[in-house]
This record gives sequence, structure tokens and C-alpha cells, in this order.
Amino acid sequence: MRKKNITHNKIHSSATRSREENLFYSLCDDSFSHISANSLKETLMSSGLQPDDYRLKELFHELNNHDQLSIQMFTKIIQKSELFVEKALRGELAIPDFKDFSTRVDQIYDDVKSKINGELASYIPPLAEVDPDQFGIAIITKDGQVYKKGQADVDFSIQSMCKPFNYCIAIEQLGIEEVHRHVGQEPSGRFFDDLSLLKQEKDAGIDDNSSNVPFNPMINAGAIMTAGLIKDQLRDNERLNFVREQFGKLIGWKQDGSSNIDLPRFNKEMARQENFKGYNNLALGYLLMATGNLPHKKSICPDDIYPEKPDEFEFYIENAVIKALKLYFSICSIEMKATDVAMAAATLANGGVCPVTQERVLSQETVRKCLPVIQMCGMYNGSGKFFQEIGLPAKSGVGGGVFLVVPQLMGICIFSPRLDPHGNSVRGIAMAQKLTSKYLLHLFDGLMTSTERLDPRVPISRWRASSCSESIWASSIGDIRTLQRLLSEQRDLEAGDYDGRTPLHLAAAEGHTEIVKFLLDNDVKPRPDRWGGYPIADAIVGKHQDIINLLKEIKTGLSLPVHITHKDDQKVDNSVKIEDELSVIELLWAASENNIRGIRQLVARGVPVHASDYDDRTALHLAAAEGHIETVKYLITHGHPLHVRDRWNATPLDEARREKRSKVSAYLSSVHKKSN
Ligand code: GLU
Repeated sequence: MRKKNITHNKIHSSATRSREENLFYSLCDDSFSHISANSLKETLMSSGLQPDDYRLKELFHELNNHDQLSIQMFTKIIQKSELFVEKALRGELAIPDFKDFSTRVDQIYDDVKSKINGELASYIPPLAEVDPDQFGIAIITKDGQVYKKGQADVDFSIQSMCKPFNYCIAIEQLGIEEVHRHVGQEPSGRFFDDLSLLKQEKDAGIDDNSSNVPFNPMINAGAIMTAGLIKDQLRDNERLNFVREQFGKLIGWKQDGSSNIDLPRFNKEMARQENFKGYNNLALGYLLMATGNLPHKKSICPDDIYPEKPDEFEFYIENAVIKALKLYFSICSIEMKATDVAMAAATLANGGVCPVTQERVLSQETVRKCLPVIQMCGMYNGSGKFFQEIGLPAKSGVGGGVFLVVPQLMGICIFSPRLDPHGNSVRGIAMAQKLTSKYLLHLFDGLMTSTERLDPRVPISRWRASSCSESIWASSIGDIRTLQRLLSEQRDLEAGDYDGRTPLHLAAAEGHTEIVKFLLDNDVKPRPDRWGGYPIADAIVGKHQDIINLLKEIKTGLSLPVHITHKDDQKVDNSVKIEDELSVIELLWAASENNIRGIRQLVARGVPVHASDYDDRTALHLAAAEGHIETVKYLITHGHPLHVRDRWNATPLDEARREKRSKVSAYLSSVHKKSN
């Protein structure tokens, strides 16, 4: 293991810092010799990790024994921890800006809460008697970040939400081909409890007997069939326990109790009621028997049901039907919390590995086979419309739960028992609609160019940076091909950065006549920047006559930009140019929005705090201009020089003065005095 004496200077230069040093340095506030153990904990929590996270046990135990951590202690701890701790500090977890994400989902939850239409499922008392106002949501990412709100930790009846998981369990046990000898994978277009079956093509290699199969495992016929396939050689209670344990593994349960997650509960009374009223399901069971499709052992006669010998003949009830129905009713009567179901959905999103225990519960192949079927058939007769609008595999149940899987990102579960006429939770659907209109989550959103909807997979500052930086950088270096591509992708070429600088400004400033022409030919309008300057002002300063002529031809305001610099102060400090241009713009956006968490993450990734953009602006210019004193202090503490000069020769202090940011001006002046 590395053992070094790390000095202030060593730590100060991002070029020579190690990974652990970058992480440590990002967490420092005023001293570079220690960080507080609490600030590390808080940073992890604000990334969405939970204090009771199974993976954090040892780390938190260690942190509880210390107030302060030196770089050596910190390095030791980080090297012992799993990679996700480092990822949390660097803003590289599945949802990097978890705080921002949570705030926005809180808002959506509050909006949806007012929806009180819909009816409870009424076919059995335990469902008809639940509190209709309950409303909970849980979101768990593939990295185990947890968001929850409302009644997210209330047990509710999972009902049909069990069907995808049963399907996965059957595939794991029997293989996909064997399962599909018994059940299809086609949307039925019929009600979920319909008594019709799908006629399978005989030339598909299926023997005569099994030519009539349920349409898919998400409707009752298919789900009863699937239940009939699971561990059919075991006793009823063993089968149910087996299924509960498989569900347990999906939600982070560990046999030795070390994860503090319990097995899902079984509600016996619910199962009894399902059995009393489940005539349609009984009919389905016998229908499956009649097709010869439900696996059964021919010689079994249920002596235990008719122990006395009947007079005329031994009435035969096929045990396989009873066993399939019993297991089906029982699994529908399992109860889980929204947080549990979200974890199971996150396990699917994570390709079959539980995000918290890191155990593989299902093979990738099983998950990949299952998700399309959920997507086509999971939302009763609203499945097609749901997929078209929301674009995510989802399964609902009449207990009021609905879960959604965002592959490689997260699982979501909403619980609210009032149902729409299809049997889907009204608030569940509304949440899904609002989430996908706020975020790029639809499976086909990759086709969309959207500047309104956010991508939860990228930090908010990076998302802002990516919407304008490419076009501005391209203009500043005369790269017309990139601009042509961005135009065909329907990017907004008028969009400005944190200073309101646009591609046209930069092309004009750098004298790229061809680019200015291209932009004007494509109807891009000149806009004023932060200082009131139009692109023509840049061309005038740069003495680019061709561009001045071009810009003169279009009618635009010609206000002169107001740049103020302090005449007596001639000192110049260097900023740095780095190759990763997007990170620079991200840093400057973060500074302009007082987003210290975002800045810490960039520092943790080794981005120098004094990196500068195409106008030689730095994070300190932006924080000073916007009057964000906390960010200004963080940057100064982390070695940002004072006399960096932008394109117009202004320092951050000039910017603070111009924008009349008195606190920042006073602070920067005092630092300035001290440094002289
Ligand atoms: N146990 C219910 C039934 O088979 C499931 C209902 C549902 O959630 O779709 O009728």
C-alpha cells in the first residue's frame, strides 16, 4: 500500500494528485489536512445511499469511530470500500444528481396526490377494505440509490405484479423453450382473466397436445400455467416458500439475516378469499388441464379430499389443477412494500443482479426474455397505449401497485389502490406519465433531441453543458461539420451558455466567416450576451470586416457590451485549458448555479478548478458574477487564482463589482489584500 506524506502543495496541484487524493481534496472545506467523517457520510447520503445499506455497514462503522479523517485514514477507508463509494463522490452513480432528482420527484408526487378518482378492487374484502388514500413511491437505481416518499414502507398485496417474477423463476428452472411449450409470448388483446387460449403453430415444433396455450404469462391463464410449472414435485408449502425466497433474493434478503431485509409476507386470509371467489381462475385451471398442457402426474387421486370411499365411483379432481391454483392464489397474496418491489424491479433493471447484495438472482438472458413480455402485456388492456406513451416495461396488480423497469438505470414502484377501468393504479399511471414527461426515460427517447426533458443519468450541470457546449466550441474553432450534424439533429443553435454566449458570438469573435454564414443561412438569430453584446460587437473587437458586413445585413440590436475592468490592477494569473471541454463547461455551469456538490464531484474527478472556456472564463468569474459567495470561497480555498482574465480582460473581482455583488467583492478584495 502507498504510504506518503502528503503536503498542502502536493495536494494542491490536480495534475499530480492520485485518485484518492482527488476524492479527499474534493471534500475539504478549509483545511487540507483533515476532512470530517460526517461530511463523507453526508455526501454519501445525499447521493441517495442509505445508512442501512448492506454494503456500507463496515464503512459506517469505521466512520462512527472518528470525527476527522486524515488523507492516510481516508485513503485506507476508500481502498477497503467497494467502488460505488468512489463513484458516489465522483458523481458517477446511476443518477449522479440524486438530490435534484429527488426534489423534482417530490414535486411530481405532490401534484399527483390530488388525484382521487378510480375505484378499489372490490371482488374480495381484503382488497375492498384497504385505505384508498394510501400513496407511496420508491425508486431504486442499479447502484442502490434509494428515493422514497409517502407510504413506501407499507405492505400491500402484490397481486398480478407477481406474474413477471414467476415467469422468470420458471425460465430459470426449466429453460425458456420448455416454458414456452406451455405458455405463449403474444399479447392477447383480451381481458386478463379471459378463458381463451392461443392456437400455437404446429410447425413450431410443438406436439399436438400442447397446441392450445395461454397467450402469455402476464394474464391469468398464463400465470396459472407458470405457477403450475414451478417446482411441481414439491409440497405446496415448500413451493410457496421457494417462491418467497426467490422474491426475497430479488429484494436483497439474505439467508443469514445480514442484510436486514425480511422475506416478503404471505397473507393467508387473502389467499383464502382468492380461492373462495376465484371461480374464473378455477375454470382456467381446468381449461389448461383439458388442453393437456398443465403438467400432471396421471395416477394421483386426491384421497385427502375424499377420504371416505364414495358409493358410486371415485370422483376425480386433478391434483395438478389444485396445486397450480393454490400456488397462484398464494403468490398473488404475498405482500410487499413499494421499496421491496422497487428493489426487485431494480434487480431486473440491473440485468438480474440485486443492486444491494450484488448477488446474481436471475441470468441476464432470463431478464432479457422477460422484459419484452412485461412491456407488451403488463398493463392489462392498457398495455399498448401505456408502452407507446411511457415506453417502459411495467406491471400492475389490482392491489394498487405498479412497477416500472428502466433498463440499466432503475426500478420504480408506485402504490396507490384506486384503480382505473383497466385495473391499473390511477396515481401509478399519472406518476409514470409525469416522470416520463420530465425525464428522458422512454426506451425510444434516444431518438429525441430534447432540451426541456432532463436526462437523470447525467449531472444537471453536464446536461446543461451538453445542450450548448458542442455547438459553441465547434463555432469557436471553425468546425462546420459538427455544426451541420448538430443542425440535422435539430439542436438549438441559438442556445447560449451561462453568459448567454452563443455559437454566433464565438464564430464572430474568432473570425470564422464560413460559420457565421452557415448559421445565418440557417436562420440562427443573433442574441445578446450577459454584457448586452451582440455577435457583431465581437466581430468589431476582432476587426473581422467580412463578418461585420454579414451581420450588418440582418436587423439586430447593436447595443454595446458593458465590460468593466479595474485599471490599476494589471496582475495576470493563468487559467488552464484542458482537453475535456465538456467538463469545463459543466464546471462553469455548476459555479454559475452555486452547485457546490457538482463542483466537488468535478474536483473528485480531477478537473482543475481554474479551467477556462472559449472566452477564457473560469468558474470564479461565474460564481463572482452571480454572487455565489459559498462557491467563491470553495474555489479560492481550492487554489483558484485571483487574477485570471477573461476575453475582455476582466477578473472575477471586476465581474463581482460590475454585477454589484457586494459580499463577493468584499471577500475577493480581502483575499487580494492578504495575498499582496
Ligand atoms: N389474484 C387476482 C386474480 O387472479 C389477480 C388480479 C390482478 O392483480 O390482476 O384474479
